[in-house]
Amino acid sequence: MKILVINAGSSSLKFQLYNMENEEVLAKGKVERIGMDSAIVCYEPAGSSEVREVSEILEHTTAIRKVLEMIAHPKYGVLESIQEIQAVGHRVVHGGESFTGSVIVDENVKREIRNLFDLAPLHNPAHMLGINAVEANMPEVTQVVAFDTAFHQTMPRGSYLYPIPMVLYKKHKIRRYGFHGISHAYVSERAAELVQKPLEQLKLISCHIGNGASCTAVLNGKSFDTSMGLTPLEGLMMGTRSGDIDPAIVPFAMGKEDLTLSEVNSMLNKHSGLMAISGISSDMREILDAMKEGDRNASLAFDMYEYRLRKYIGSYTAAMNGVDVLVFTAGVGENSAALRQAVCRNLTFLGLELDEKANEQRSNEERIISTEQSRVQVLVIPTNEELVIARDTHQLLLNSRNVV
Ligand code: ADP
Repeated sequence: MKILVINAGSSSLKFQLYNMENEEVLAKGKVERIGMDSAIVCYEPAGSSEVREVSEILEHTTAIRKVLEMIAHPKYGVLESIQEIQAVGHRVVHGGESFTGSVIVDENVKREIRNLFDLAPLHNPAHMLGINAVEANMPEVTQVVAFDTAFHQTMPRGSYLYPIPMVLYKKHKIRRYGFHGISHAYVSERAAELVQKPLEQLKLISCHIGNGASCTAVLNGKSFDTSMGLTPLEGLMMGTRSGDIDPAIVPFAMGKEDLTLSEVNSMLNKHSGLMAISGISSDMREILDAMKEGDRNASLAFDMYEYRLRKYIGSYTAAMNGVDVLVFTAGVGENSAALRQAVCRNLTFLGLELDEKANEQRSNEERIISTEQSRVQVLVIPTNEELVIARDTHQLLLNSRNVV
């Protein structure tokens, strides 16, 4: 069975085509600058080089059509016909309180996703464009949505409520939702396999550290607490996002700097974090390079980033009354031995002992980087959100066929 996975943004769209018989990626790519006359389609069939095409793509329906044309292209295509694609899975950032797992798209699901536009104004409208674009191109195909929030719906009320008037939750659903759930769920499962213990018996902390970053306390296989909140701004210091700050800074800075709401929003989401402190970049690689050159602002940015992450690890250890497994994933978590080392160096009070050699080793493989004696097992697990979406889509399609 062939399944197409799509991650639609407002002006871009990423895709991966899976053969579910062996979970092989047959082709992947992206469309960028949707809405412009010079949009770019990058298409990479497995085992061959990338094909790039620049053309006018004004909306998502055309973008999907281009992707499908590439997939069944006489020269670069990997399928004879797009009819071979039996289902399409989409990543959706916000599922609110309505969705605790992936679901097949129907009119009710679409309505719910639309109802959540308010809570995820940058993401959910773009996902809907993706869903509608697939429907326009492939009216018969089954579509599935996987939500970044779904895994965190197990959080207890004490974790997800803010200590603010309850009317805001009751009337406007202002609460903590958490994000990166597809990734946290995936790496938790893989971690349990790697340490050869049932996930249901583990106290695990998962650190998804990429451009966006979040940390989750996974207690007995369920999300117990997570660092992102109503929006993906709360929690850890990130590439361009502030993470936790005193909320009083918002009105104070607005008054002092004469900022509008949208300006302050943009300041905290796009001009803070590593970028603001280093004055150089939001990209950890550039921060690390600048540190080697002796740049003190880059060092400060790195130290703050690591410190804020470590404080979360400490608080989640307290939240679960212990920790058995610490997992690093996503761009920085998977690739930066320096960040992992800095975090683990100050967690020795937990009986955690990093295997420095294993930590330094460059690899794309899942691996344990703590010593045999370490009381906390530390793991690096490359995340694979697309695979989870493909699996969920496959499973839901099989279930629906059995029901019929
Ligand atoms: P996204 O949140 O956009 O999915 P990724 O998970 O791909 O992001 O992470 C991107 C970040 O990973 C980059 O901004 C970069 O800082 C970091 N990164 C990638 N490779 C390395 C590396 N070798 N060392 C340190 N950081 C890295």
